[in-house]
Amino acid sequence: MVSRRLIYKFLLDFVYPNRCPICGSFIKWDELLCKVCESKLPFHEKTLCERCGKDKCLDHDSLHFDSIYTLMRYEDICVKAIHQLKDDRQLNFAEYSAKLLGNVLRENGIAQQADIITSVPMHRSKRRKRGYDQAQKLAHFTAAELGINENYRLLGRTKDTAEQHTLTASERKTHAEEIYFSLPDHADIKGKNILLFDDVYTTGSTLNVCSGLLKNMGAKNVFCAAIATTLLDEKHKE
Ligand SMILES: [Zn+2]
Ligand SMILES: [Zn+2]
Repeated sequence: MVSRRLIYKFLLDFVYPNRCPICGSFIKWDELLCKVCESKLPFHEKTLCERCGKDKCLDHDSLHFDSIYTLMRYEDICVKAIHQLKDDRQLNFAEYSAKLLGNVLRENGIAQQADIITSVPMHRSKRRKRGYDQAQKLAHFTAAELGINENYRLLGRTKDTAEQHTLTASERKTHAEEIYFSLPDHADIKGKNILLFDDVYTTGSTLNVCSGLLKNMGAKNVFCAAIATTLLDEKHKE
């Protein structure tokens, strides 16, 4: 079927010509990125741990999620692309990443096991200001790609006052424990396999706390996915 989104994009292009979300150059209406930017994206070259998704393992015993998948390193042009995802209403990069993540999740047998897709929630006030929630958009496009049900009312969050990047790893953990909470009234997820999305996977505090909440609600497995992750050997240290 010709999706409504494709028709929408074709028509939208007449009014707002399609642009590369990273460099801003004009691209064809049905493209998501320009070829130059795509070739510069820092896709993973080495094999990462299947359990914690890092090049040097985190403490596996403290992890609530069962596995995690990312596409690239959170550095260089990828930082810019993810930043665009947050600041603009430009959805090309979310759609592009969702297609690739969909493939990764299929290849690893995760798509076949997942019952529900959800995302790390953004606080309502921020979402209102920005117009949408980038982790949810990524999850939404991937759900469409894989044909998996979505539910974004499993988790909630309080207003976040701290600047994440100023916190140490252990402070982030405590902070995440304070701001996220479960909304058990909105779904019975007992025995279900949940696929949880965020845009970036850094220390993993957020994804881990959210996975723990989903497990407390009865989830059988929680698999995580994000566009990018920080690795230990890279320039952009946390
Ligand atoms: Zn470009
Ligand atoms: Zn590991």
